[in-house]
This record gives sequence, structure tokens and C-alpha cells, in this order.
Amino acid sequence: MDVPLLEKLQSKFECNQCGQCCVVGGDMLLSHDDVLRIASDLNYDFDGFVDCYLERVPADPDYFLVRDVMPCAFLDKLHMRCQIQSCKPLACRDYPFVLYARGECNIDAVLTCPVAVKMLEDHLKGVE
Ligand code: SF4
Ligand code: SF4
Repeated sequence: MDVPLLEKLQSKFECNQCGQCCVVGGDMLLSHDDVLRIASDLNYDFDGFVDCYLERVPADPDYFLVRDVMPCAFLDKLHMRCQIQSCKPLACRDYPFVLYARGECNIDAVLTCPVAVKMLEDHLKGVE
């Protein structure tokens, strides 16, 4: 799949908040801006939020990894809903197609998402 197609698919992508991608693990990379935004929304100071939820990426101090990803620390496990939907990390906003285009997830991760699978099926059938 080429990048323009993946970007087109992402532009039409509508997450139904099923939570399936939030339980399978994988590296959840947050930028400094992600951390600022989410910490502010959850009423943490920056360092307090990092201490509670994240690990610093040793090679790049501007990036952080979510410590608990199976399931994600920000998933409401009872209702299977993201608790930070309105301020969630860019990686989650770009999942599945643009994240895949950037090489930040593999095709198995894309196929975890039922909405993405349906869109790909429709694309292959020429429906979309
Ligand atoms: S931040 Fe939200 S959308 Fe992203 S993996 Fe965690 S629970 Fe899912
Ligand atoms: S698997 Fe797809 S539809 Fe479900 S929460 Fe993740 S992105 Fe949204």
C-alpha cells in the first residue's frame, strides 16, 4: 500500500472505540507535546505524570513510552473505552493507516482494528 492511499484511508477512518487495539500491547510512544497535553487534561504536573505512567526513552529525552500497554494504562477496562480520548497521543490518532505508513506499527497491528479490516476489504472490492 502506498502512502497516499494510506493517508486517504486514514482521512476516512472513524474509530468506533471498541478498545481492541488498546489491549494488544506494543510500544506506545508519546512525544513531549503528548505528555504536556495529557498531563494537563488529567491535572498532573509533567513530572508527576511521567512518574505514574511513563518511562523515558534513554536515546531521546523528548520521547516517552507508556509503561503498561497490555492493556493500555489509559483504557477503562470495565467499559473498554479510552479514558483520554479527547487528548490521546498522536500515535493513537494516526493509528492504523498513517502509523503504519510511518513504519511505527506492523500490518498485524493494523489488522487488529475491525474498522480498518472492513475498510481494506471494501477497498479491495472496489466499494470505497
Ligand atoms: S491512549 Fe487510549 S486510544 Fe491509545 S492505546 Fe491507550 S486507551 Fe487506547
Ligand atoms: S481497534 Fe480500531 S475501532 Fe477499535 S478502538 Fe482501536 S482504532 Fe478504534
